[in-house]
Amino acid sequence: MVRIVFHYAMHLLAPGLIAKIAFKNNWKKAWLIMLLTLLADIDHLFASPFFDLNRCSIGYHPLHSYIAIVIYAVLLFVPRLRIVSVGLLFHMLTDFIDCLWISAQ
Ligand SMILES: [Zn+2]
Repeated sequence: MVRIVFHYAMHLLAPGLIAKIAFKNNWKKAWLIMLLTLLADIDHLFASPFFDLNRCSIGYHPLHSYIAIVIYAVLLFVPRLRIVSVGLLFHMLTDFIDCLWISAQ
């Protein structure tokens, strides 16, 4: 239960904090864009079952693959896509923390 609350707080609230700190001038837009990066979870639809609380997403789903993460990191250097990149990388970090939590069980 703590894991789930932590996970969704990291997905939903932490990007708001990052937006407030890193994108002060347009933090609401930045927060919204970062929330939209949750759409990367659409790749879960290709898995069976599409939702498994105890499956590590990183390295499993296409948009959570290591190659995808490298691409997200490269996007950091494209000014227009920087917020998307931060959102996606933070999304991956959140999912990675979840993986550590799963493996520690
Ligand atoms: Zn994810």
